[in-house]
Amino acid sequence: MKTPISSGVITNYNCTAECRHCMFASSPDCKKDYMTKERASEVAALLAQAGTISVHIGGGEPFMDFDGLCLLIQALTRHGVGIDYIETNGYWAKDEALARRRLEVLKRLGVYTIMVSVDPFHIEYVPLERPLRLVTLLDEYGFDYFIWQQRFLKRLMALDITKTHTKEELMTVLGENYIVETAREYGLGINGRALHFAGDIYEKRPAEFFATDDECPSLTRPNHCHIDLYGNAIPSRCTGIQAQARDYLETDIDGEKYPVLSRLIKGGTKELFEYAKSCGFVPDKEGYPTRCAFCFDMRQYLEKTRPSDDLGPKDFYIQMRNAY
Ligand code: SF4
Repeated sequence: MKTPISSGVITNYNCTAECRHCMFASSPDCKKDYMTKERASEVAALLAQAGTISVHIGGGEPFMDFDGLCLLIQALTRHGVGIDYIETNGYWAKDEALARRRLEVLKRLGVYTIMVSVDPFHIEYVPLERPLRLVTLLDEYGFDYFIWQQRFLKRLMALDITKTHTKEELMTVLGENYIVETAREYGLGINGRALHFAGDIYEKRPAEFFATDDECPSLTRPNHCHIDLYGNAIPSRCTGIQAQARDYLETDIDGEKYPVLSRLIKGGTKELFEYAKSCGFVPDKEGYPTRCAFCFDMRQYLEKTRPSDDLGPKDFYIQMRNAY
């Protein structure tokens, strides 16, 4: 079994925000499912068995069910798996008293580090004063933290921090091209919801150009993955593709059970293209900006017409189709 290193646990796909760059296409419209106590124990036990020393916790927004988050922390601790950090957009620091109570609980549970998201995409949904209040409190309570990404903070401080800001408002302050420039500065792996602006960055090329048998490294190296609330492993850069965590870590990818993932592993997007065409897929005549955009288009077609266990979660495809 492979050992997940620098890997994460996804508590939920639901989020208070719907950021343009979100790999998981999280949104307030996603199902409100959250990792259960039983699943948390299963995932923690599997990670311990695989030899994982520590993980980060992310979502969606993990703080949307604080009791559930605490149960996961306890399960990981019981199985000797440490917590590198917990990700949050800081929305819950609207209420200082509530934030203090939560930080006291996290401290008692042995959490040391929080990652606070701040960037031109989150600011459309979370007023900056909330993550700022959170980092002040984290300092006060002696937590370690990092702002992801600090580089944007100074520019965003020029805005009214008490409110969220629309794309149009952000364009006037950050420049017409701020979405693409933010993606570049971030060093974003363009996948998930960010595929919707990949065409603004890369020139489109025909499907055949991207139908190659090159290996997609994240699929064949399961050491870095996310394990979600449904017990599935999601390869690190390929959202919308999944396998049961144990199968994935044991690289036991059966062709019948996982027709998409197994083809991608065996023969890349070329093999998936053959399969998708045999199911009636017709590529976009205008072409695609990236290989992942082409891969996604085939998968979103297959998810509708030939659903399989490796195409999910369902909400990902729903949100991707709804994306602006
Ligand atoms: S082409 Fe598909 S499988 Fe390969 S990295 Fe991109 S999304 Fe993942």
